[in-house]
Amino acid sequence: MAKIVVIPGDGIGEEITTAAVLVLKKVAEKCNLKLTFETHHAGGTAYDLYGTPLPQSTIDAAKASDGVLFGAVGGDKWDNVDPSLRPEKAILGLRKELGLYANLRPVKVPDSLCEYSPLKEEIVSGTDIVIVRELIGGIYFGEKCESEIVNGVERAWDLENYSVSEVDRIVRLACETAQKRQGKVVSVDKANVLASSRLWRRTAAKVAEEYKDIELSNMYVDNCAMQLALKPKNFDVIVTGNLFGDILSDEAAVLGGSIGMMPSASIGECTSLYEPIHGSAPDITGLGIANPIGTILSAAMLLRYSLNEENAAVCVEEAVEKVLKDGYRTADLYRDGFKKVTTEEMAARIAERI
Ligand code: ATP
Ligand code: MG
Repeated sequence: MAKIVVIPGDGIGEEITTAAVLVLKKVAEKCNLKLTFETHHAGGTAYDLYGTPLPQSTIDAAKASDGVLFGAVGGDKWDNVDPSLRPEKAILGLRKELGLYANLRPVKVPDSLCEYSPLKEEIVSGTDIVIVRELIGGIYFGEKCESEIVNGVERAWDLENYSVSEVDRIVRLACETAQKRQGKVVSVDKANVLASSRLWRRTAAKVAEEYKDIELSNMYVDNCAMQLALKPKNFDVIVTGNLFGDILSDEAAVLGGSIGMMPSASIGECTSLYEPIHGSAPDITGLGIANPIGTILSAAMLLRYSLNEENAAVCVEEAVEKVLKDGYRTADLYRDGFKKVTTEEMAARIAERI
């Protein structure tokens, strides 16, 4: 029996998580899995109800679960709320509470969606990458100085800082991820100019010695940014630090054409959390037109990484591809000649395909 905590959050969160739960229930039936679902509040919705974006009850439930399915938080409704109580604090707080040290973002472009890519079809077709980004270290969490006067000139600084153990665990996760794929890991850094990157590179090499089946190579971040746009097909798994990963994963996300398609997993010390990469999309909330596929594919990652149910995960992913191939599209991907469906209908089609 696996317990899944569902946190819809704000905006389209409710619609897209409802869609994903429908699909999870269907795949559980098909693959004979016992899943239970428990819904908890976070974000602006929780602030309105309890005066805090991340109630302790939500944290406790998440920690006690086998996996968290998260929608999105935020919205202009809470623009004037005290900064320490803003909806976004919910996801930052959960990352911290659950020790979510790695963010995995797959970028897979199904043939049926190549035409939506900003890149030429022959370049993007067949792209299948997982970016493994370190999430709770590096320059975002290093010592900082907002302002200091040195020789009469004002400056500010942020410290890029990684320990061997932080690099070790993220590279290990990347190698294990690659073992289930093509076995190729590209470690991305800026070792020609940064000391922290040189430690990163040394540590990555050491970890890779333990994974004889993995081919590890190194790439400078500037070159990687270029290669992602030139030859995305050449990548299998990319592992990198917090700052570089933030930038590269957004770059890679556009290859697929719609932000509504992209899932992510944040892997933790106890429970892992799964969410689409997009936000709460207040502009389309309640219209029933949000694309639920990013959340449905996040649910597939939950099956794969938290429940170890590879077959069920593949079953969901294949159903998504088939429904797209059959020509069903939510508004974000709709064009003449396709069949336009609502959020709910898209989920129902995918469930039916399962
Ligand atoms: P955040 O700060 O939470 O990342 P954001 O302001 O960057 O939020 P999103 O909420 O991701 O932005 O929305 C960006 C645009 O993409 C909006 O126009 C939104 O309607 C659209 N969008 C986001 N998610 C979806 C989706 N699942 N389906 C269709 N359109 C979406
Ligand atoms: Mg955003």
